Amino acid sequence: MNPLPVWQQRIWEKLMRGGVVRSHALLLKGRPGIGKYRFARMLAKSLLCVNPDARHTACGRCTGCNWFAQHTHPNFALIAPDALMLSLSSRALDANHSTKVPDPPAGERQTKQRAGQQITIGQIRGLNDFVYLTGHQAGFKIVLIYPAETMNTAAANALLKKLEEPPECTLFILVAHQPQRVLPTIRSRCLQIVMPAPDIETAIQWMLQHWPQQTDAEKYPDSLQLDKRQYAHMLLALSGYSPFLALPLVDTIERHRQFIDAVSTYASFDPLALAEAMQQQELTVTIDWLQKWCYDLAGFHVARRVRYHPYLEARIQPLCQQINLQACLAYLHFLNTRQPLSRHPVNVRLFLEEIFIQYGRLLASESAVPEFDV
Ligand SMILES: [Zn+2]
Repeated sequence: MNPLPVWQQRIWEKLMRGGVVRSHALLLKGRPGIGKYRFARMLAKSLLCVNPDARHTACGRCTGCNWFAQHTHPNFALIAPDALMLSLSSRALDANHSTKVPDPPAGERQTKQRAGQQITIGQIRGLNDFVYLTGHQAGFKIVLIYPAETMNTAAANALLKKLEEPPECTLFILVAHQPQRVLPTIRSRCLQIVMPAPDIETAIQWMLQHWPQQTDAEKYPDSLQLDKRQYAHMLLALSGYSPFLALPLVDTIERHRQFIDAVSTYASFDPLALAEAMQQQELTVTIDWLQKWCYDLAGFHVARRVRYHPYLEARIQPLCQQINLQACLAYLHFLNTRQPLSRHPVNVRLFLEEIFIQYGRLLASESAVPEFDV
């Protein structure tokens, strides 16, 4: 595992003073994409390592470290929504949970699609043997819950019982993007740690050090002629200034360029063609792009400020002359109402066509202010 990013080093030193975490439960909170989950895993790995170095970093060579890297450490349990588990680690599910977590009851299966986005009571109850029976060589045990706000009410109450009577030699690490959605009674039983976010320059430097190896990922695919630093800045802005979300955008930037080309073309905007071009992409991502684009249209309208597309002012400015500010704000509101639906659309193509047809009306809003159906 790579070393800690520079913006997390101080919090690591503070937390690991003496090599011991002086709490039975931690809540790491902060916005997405700043490395909270990775920090939590490094923390767990370090605490399970039999031979950590002077800075309490895992050695990477002992049996514990090897088990951890293979997702087979008997004293580590990862709890995450099923929908997320596979992407976190293709092997974590079978290695850590198949024997510990019972099947959900029939009623829960009926809402499987929704539950796939949540941490269920079955997963928390499945921890009973893990936390209450003696661990491997009576060692320290760690439960990582990510993201903690995805626990449904029953799961949260089940966890609360465990935190009220904390099992011995067990550390719970909760990671939350939206800690206000975690039960207050759970929060109050955790040592809460605000995870730091990097400033723009630090984030760009980190991105440049971790740039993907592909040779075709060096330049933004456009006539903008951005150098690599500007390209990193552009990805960072597009991610909402979250470096861990920004780097993977290299893989989708060509599609994003097509998207920008389409939505910034006033005269020949074709909603149906754009819907077709975007239908292979996750809907939530497309909505996110459109929200950020319209946010910048509104921001430029009001204050000549661009947050998410720092190198595209030349495209934003002429569009702002064509659209009405109130209509832009109304369209943003319309997108907000559509965003939750985008996770379970009945028909992806129709969904996309609707939002892009409405966007087409926004583009013509200087002459006739539309109302958006919400
Ligand atoms: Zn080790």
